[in-house]
Amino acid sequence: MKLPFVIALLGLAGFAPGAWGWSNHTLGSYLALQDVAPLREAPTVEVEPLEQFLAQEHTGLVALLQAQESFAREHFADYPPRPDDLALTTTPASDPRRAFLMALRVNPQIHLALMFQPLPGQDEPARGHLKPSQVMVAQTLSPWATQRFIALAPGEQIAPLAVLATAADEPDYGHDINLFSDNPGEVGALYGFGVQSFGDERFEYSSQAPFHIGFFHESAVIYAGAPFLKRSWPDWRIYQYFDLARFAFATGHPYWGYRFLGWGLHYVQDLTQPYHATPLPGADLAGMLLMEGKALAGFDSEKKAAIARVATRHTEVEKYQGAWLEQLLLAKAPHPMLAAYADTARDATYPPYSTAYARDVVAAQANAQAAAFDEAIGQWLAASGGVQGFSQGNQLQRQTYDHEPLNSQLVELLRHMGAHSRNFVRAGMGAH
Ligand SMILES: [Zn+2]
Repeated sequence: MKLPFVIALLGLAGFAPGAWGWSNHTLGSYLALQDVAPLREAPTVEVEPLEQFLAQEHTGLVALLQAQESFAREHFADYPPRPDDLALTTTPASDPRRAFLMALRVNPQIHLALMFQPLPGQDEPARGHLKPSQVMVAQTLSPWATQRFIALAPGEQIAPLAVLATAADEPDYGHDINLFSDNPGEVGALYGFGVQSFGDERFEYSSQAPFHIGFFHESAVIYAGAPFLKRSWPDWRIYQYFDLARFAFATGHPYWGYRFLGWGLHYVQDLTQPYHATPLPGADLAGMLLMEGKALAGFDSEKKAAIARVATRHTEVEKYQGAWLEQLLLAKAPHPMLAAYADTARDATYPPYSTAYARDVVAAQANAQAAAFDEAIGQWLAASGGVQGFSQGNQLQRQTYDHEPLNSQLVELLRHMGAHSRNFVRAGMGAH
């Protein structure tokens, strides 16, 4: 069975929020992790350039990445094997940083700047700052971004929480841009991922979508008609970085331990967003097939409307939540949304962390709430008089954030995001 509807739909799944998944991940991470005791009590760490870590641990990294590749081939469904010539060689390459990033199959053009993001209202204006263009690759720069990046120097001491929370936003700065064979650039042809499985090709940054979105819980009929839906690998990225974090901690490089752990955390948090875990929230299979049948018969308005609806709701709800969060942080007053991130009541009710956790626990939970979430967004948009275009993004500052059904959906989802963030970080630190 062919489902061109889904194919067309996924053309839009990577619209703007390919780069989001709860807006700025650093803010949510600070809130979720602030009271994790092992993290709060951990000593400050020394900022270390990547090159130093790579030089000191080369031999161990050769073995680690080889073991990761063997594991991935065996344990991840639809995993595209890494071409053997990308493996780290026993003798270090002339450009060790580039060789390492290519062995991980990450965009070698990322900046990996030494910096940290403060919470809104906690910037330190007297300190040196980096420009966004020094932190993010060009395709991910956004006129709506409000992040501040305080520069760090090698050898400087920094709190583990700041490293982790900052790193949690980094995979949106270019890690997964242009890795497919049909993307521009030099590595797509070398990496073995094949053609881009989904994402809106009009937006260059959307080439990262198959690494930040995972459709793990669709029906067999959907996968049969649209097998490319399985070609997404956020769970593999999580595995890579979790394992690297454990290695860095064990070999005495805590700065990189926390930074790699933050990278893995990003994808865990992405999967708590229902639109990152569900291709078409709110549509049942019969409805999708009926819509597709009509479209094939020449009546495609319903289908087009559904596609546009998903892209709009995904985008608008992230803008609403992101702007609201920033406002609450600046207001410095207690609020149920801030409390939800930090609510530890249910952390221990989830299964112990494992490589399958992101897919079987995190994405499954987001997928299960997708229809209700989508419906609440629809109600909010209808009540607020429709969508505000990208060009009017600043008007969001005047939002009142008083749509109760949407707010309660958001608070519940952010409670999940906080719990999974803590469970992942505790496991990565070897704490319980
Ligand atoms: Zn992401």
